[in-house]
This record gives sequence, structure tokens and C-alpha cells, in this order.
Amino acid sequence: MNRILLGSVAALGIGIAGVASAQQTFIAIGTGGVTGVYYPAGGAICRLVNRNRAEHGIRCGVESTGGSIFNINAIRTGELEFGVAQSDWQFHAFNGSSRFEDDGPFEDLRAVFSLHPEPFTVVARSDADVTSFDDLAGKRVNIGNPGSGQRGTMDVVMEAMGWTTDTFSQATELPPGEQALALCDNNIDAIIYTVGHPSGAIQEATTACDTVLVNVDNDAIRALVEDRPYYRMATIPGGMYRGTDADVTTFGVGATFVTSATVADEVVYQVVKAIFEDLDQFKGLHPALDILVPEQMVSDGLSAPLHPGAERFYREAGLID
Ligand code: GLU
Repeated sequence: MNRILLGSVAALGIGIAGVASAQQTFIAIGTGGVTGVYYPAGGAICRLVNRNRAEHGIRCGVESTGGSIFNINAIRTGELEFGVAQSDWQFHAFNGSSRFEDDGPFEDLRAVFSLHPEPFTVVARSDADVTSFDDLAGKRVNIGNPGSGQRGTMDVVMEAMGWTTDTFSQATELPPGEQALALCDNNIDAIIYTVGHPSGAIQEATTACDTVLVNVDNDAIRALVEDRPYYRMATIPGGMYRGTDADVTTFGVGATFVTSATVADEVVYQVVKAIFEDLDQFKGLHPALDILVPEQMVSDGLSAPLHPGAERFYREAGLID
């Protein structure tokens, strides 16, 4: 759905060249919880897009949502034009596999660019006696809210481990923004968040009470990573969060920016142009974006076809052939 409105200046018939005749196109970006990285990353995208509004007439807004799977579904129904989504769920949505098997392939799903890496991050209370991922069995664990990417990924991991929700003494479904408080109030022993680093939510959990980040590295996880193109082993650097001085080994996915083939080429072109022409500023808007490299952004973790509007910009910029 492209919401097209006549700008008020045009409606008043004031003759300012380029504005009077300009239509406004509204685009909404679906993100995640406000203490994650999707939300500030979406905000950073909109900030750069909106700066050139007088030239292209696009007004960009960001929405906090349940996460990846919600965003993909909302793009499919036309409720959102863009969204941030984990690379594993982009893959499954386009192919109609895993969680998306019942809905069938989302053939109009289009990749725009990839963003930051997202390690599958497990944080446990220091007093919970959790030193490895396997120790979560029998504990009170927040497995994530339905609709989030991390919940979907946790479901896959649980299956690979031979676990069900009954494996835990309690399995909660809190959204990311409520996890830190629940952990520090001792309502749960561990939280799981597939998120870029540093993230506000993990910072909150690790500073508000004594916690440790837990390695997620065993045979089941290694086999998952080996078999699937959208997973890779990942490291969360030691010293990034209070209580965890050593590097943490886990696996991870990539955050990607996606849209639908039904969104106009010109709109996607302008969005991509706004980001890539000012990539240094974009990277400076959140520390998790600092590592972005243009050549990787146009290919890494993208399993749906590139949107033609994005492709046009990348070709002009010499990023693809
Ligand atoms: N990876 C999470 C998800 O797909 C969101 C992480 C974030 O908001 O930064 O639901």
C-alpha cells in the first residue's frame, strides 16, 4: 500500500517549483522492540530519507513491532512497505519453508540491503548456574514473543536440541523490551535475544543485575550451521558487556532490509540512494552499524532477489555488475 497524498502546499496551489506539484509518498518501516537495534536502525534509515524529502517527496516513518516475522507478514499484506528481518526468515519467507510453509512462498519479497550481524545471544543470571547452553534445561527461560525472529530461531534450535517448552521449568514469551526487568527481578533465569551488538536491551540486562553471556556452541548447533546457508558461527567480543570479559561463541544470522516487488522502483531507489550516499553518517547513527561495508551490504544474507530500484542504484554505484 502506497499512501499517496497531495502535499498541503500543492493543495493550496502555491507555486513553488518542485514542491507545488510534488506528491508525497509515505513509507513505513517495521522494526522491533525499541531497545533492540532494528528500531534505531530503522530510525537512522528514515532520518537520511527524510532529509531529502523536498527532492523526492518520500516521508519515512518507523514502527516498533514484534520483529522479523511480523514485519515480513505485514509487508506481504501491504500494511508496511519496508521492514527489517533476520536473514533466516527472509530465506524461509521467500521459499515458503519452515514457519512460512503454510502461507506458501512470498514470491514478491525483495531484498534491499543487509545490515549488521545478529548473534543468538543468551544472557543468564549469575546465580542461575548456567555456564553452557545445555544448562538452560530445567531453568526459567524467556524463549521470545511470537512474531519475533529470535522466537522463530529459538524454535528451530529447540527442535535441533530435542527440546520442547517442557524442557524448561518455565518458558515465557516476553517481548524484548520486558526481558531485562524480568531477569533482574528474578522472575526468569535467562533471556534469549537474536540482536546486533551493542544493544540497549542487553546493556540494560547486564548493568541492572549480575549476569553472564553464555556460549551457544555444541554439536547440535554446529550441525545446524553446517547445513544452512543463512547461519554462521559468531562471536560476541569480551568486554562489551559488564560481567562477560571473555569472547562468547555462538551462532548468528544477519539483519536485512526487505520490501515488496509492489513498492515502486523509484521509492526503493531513493531510499537506497539516501543510505549509500551518506553511509558514513548512517554508520555513525548506531554503534552496531559501524561495521557495515557496502560490498557486503548488497549481497550478504540476501536470499530474495534484489528489488529493481535497489539494483539500479547498486549498478550505477558500481557495487554490482
Ligand atoms: N532479531 C530480532 C527479530 O527479528 C530483532 C532484533 C532487534 O530488534 O534489533 O525479532
